[in-house]
Amino acid sequence: MSEPYDGGPVAALRRIAFLLERGREETYKVKAYRNAAATILPLPPDQVAAAVEDGSITDLPGVGASTAKVIAAAVRGEMPERLAALEREHGAPLTEGGDGLRAELRGDLHSHSDWSDGGSPIEEMAFTALELGHEYLVLTDHSPRLTIAHGLSPERLRRQLGVVAAVNEHLAARGGDGFTLLTGIEVDILDDGSLDQDDDLLARLDVRVASVHSKLKMDAKDMTRRMIGAIRNPRTNVLGHCTGRLVTGGRGTRPGSQFDAKAVFEACAEHDVAVEINSRPERRDPPTKLLELARDTGCLFSIDSDAHAPGQLDFQVYGCERAEAAGIHPDRIVNTWPRDRLLTWANG
Ligand SMILES: [Zn+2]
Ligand SMILES: [Zn+2]
Repeated sequence: MSEPYDGGPVAALRRIAFLLERGREETYKVKAYRNAAATILPLPPDQVAAAVEDGSITDLPGVGASTAKVIAAAVRGEMPERLAALEREHGAPLTEGGDGLRAELRGDLHSHSDWSDGGSPIEEMAFTALELGHEYLVLTDHSPRLTIAHGLSPERLRRQLGVVAAVNEHLAARGGDGFTLLTGIEVDILDDGSLDQDDDLLARLDVRVASVHSKLKMDAKDMTRRMIGAIRNPRTNVLGHCTGRLVTGGRGTRPGSQFDAKAVFEACAEHDVAVEINSRPERRDPPTKLLELARDTGCLFSIDSDAHAPGQLDFQVYGCERAEAAGIHPDRIVNTWPRDRLLTWANG
């Protein structure tokens, strides 16, 4: 006798995708479930049930043998086997600590959609953030120079602002729980410390994360000058993954950039720029010694998922665990703030 399940086929498929992403599985393993969910979503439930009954469910675009099994079980009100297995494999808490602080977070300032190098559409990222209990999510796709990640030209970013407005209207019309998708960018810090996007466009955004993605091995003096140049730019709100190190994972490992961390964090404190605690398991950036230095320098922080898929929005608890261990007071973490306070800080 299988366990009952009353979520329906779309929720089952989306939950499977979420758990795969949270478990850091490759995007191609997840796509089938997200595509099948998108196919089923607009169909009336009795039509889906009938297609399961007469075996025509796999004729629908994007529905294959394994997704059809999930749909069939959910339609019958039974727990899909694949979902039950994934709940066991990837559904457990990610950390031992950090839950208390995670409960105080109201949003996430760093996330990517399939407009740059993320794996899912904007609306799926927004909807998942809402389901996680966030009041806001800042969409921060990459800037033009990061061509490998399909960075957004000024034209594409302008177009994206229209899409974000449409997503917000759609959510509000459906009683979106007061959730707002905020506009933003992860803007490249160029070699000379300038930001890789038109200033008038940067000025229109709600929040800007500035990060180094190239020439990470630059001489320490030049890197310090480069980072401080970006921090002094009044558009910069968050200094993203400051060392750029990779500690684990499929992309291999690399040491962090060398720079005068004290000078960089003093500049952050002076210019009201938050130091990002990047929650991605392969980044864990800044390293603990630098995190403590930023704490002692009086910096603000932003605990970000840097999610490239909806399930990765759940990574924030990794950053919370580290911030809690470092004894950083929640009021110094900008994403514990209500949306209005955050927006005043970012554009005040
Ligand atoms: Zn980045
Ligand atoms: Zn990013």
